[in-house]
Amino acid sequence: MIPAAFEYSRATSVKQAVAQLGAAGPEGKVIAGGQSLLPLMRLRLSQPTYLVDVNGVRELDYIHPDGQFLRVGAMSRHVTLARSEVVRAQLPLLAEMASQVGDAQVRTRGTLGGVFAHADAAGDYPTLAVMLDATVVTDRRRIPAREFFQHLFTTALESDELVCEVVFPIARGPHRYLKFRRRLYDWAIVGAAVQQLDSGWRVGLTHMGPTPVRATGVEERLSAGAAPPEACAAAADGLEPPSDVRASAAYRRHLAQVLTRRALEQAA
Ligand SMILES: Cc1cc2nc3c(=O)[nH]c(=O)nc-3n(C[C@H](O)[C@H](O)[C@H](O)COP(=O)(O)OP(=O)(O)OC[C@H]3O[C@@H](n4cnc5c(N)ncnc54)[C@H](O)[C@@H]3O)c2cc1C
Repeated sequence: MIPAAFEYSRATSVKQAVAQLGAAGPEGKVIAGGQSLLPLMRLRLSQPTYLVDVNGVRELDYIHPDGQFLRVGAMSRHVTLARSEVVRAQLPLLAEMASQVGDAQVRTRGTLGGVFAHADAAGDYPTLAVMLDATVVTDRRRIPAREFFQHLFTTALESDELVCEVVFPIARGPHRYLKFRRRLYDWAIVGAAVQQLDSGWRVGLTHMGPTPVRATGVEERLSAGAAPPEACAAAADGLEPPSDVRASAAYRRHLAQVLTRRALEQAA
């Protein structure tokens, strides 16, 4: 299908992008990789009247270690994150996730900032951000990841606010991300991420609700000395996963337990 008519401008700096968004009004939108927005526009599920193209905003395309943190610019493409030596060394779980996003086209065009702003329940990086207590930095404020994702496709962003970077804690220890999907390039029906920190294991789940979740029940059992099979029995506690054409809620609960156990066993 053909998208509804819209106006279009290109920005080459954050300042310019924010000014153009402000002038566009509430129906204006950023376009980054276009991998989520364009399909929605073609189906006319989204009909922005104005698009601000941020592909020329080079100042948002970077990966910087900064003390105990890894700062990742919003315009970092999935393929860059998957191949980056810095990401592989400082936060290998992010590289592992990036290598599993969609297909080659999606990884070549899609951006980290786009995944955060789009806030699909099946998005992969948001799970990592929530489980590690990352921070989303916009043109005007810093938002803890656990407050950034508010509901399905809903974030704390204002209509004229730009995601500029995500600040992740560095984590080099044992880790694994497993996602269950029917075809290699599909989104996760359920995903489970595990990362060992000095303080213990962090566990996150993808697509077990409208926003990513940190599986604190599993973390607490592991800290208390439980083996993975016993700890992972708590993976879906308190969660209300969706039922859809791909999986029932009951099947998602089962997947959460199995994938978390496997991820822990493989990481260890
Ligand atoms: C076939 C297919 C498979 C996919 N599989 C996966 C998968 O397995 N895992 C996964 O995580 N994702 C997956 N995706 C989505 C992919 O990761 C997209 O790249 C991502 O969701 C959006 O990034 P984008 O740069 O393309 O953003 P766009 O499509 O350009 O924009 C998406 C939304 O974010 C907003 N936006 C973009 N950048 C910013 C910014 N810097 N500040 C504020 N708002 C912004 C836009 O206005 C729009 O509302 C898949 C997509 C497709 C088409």
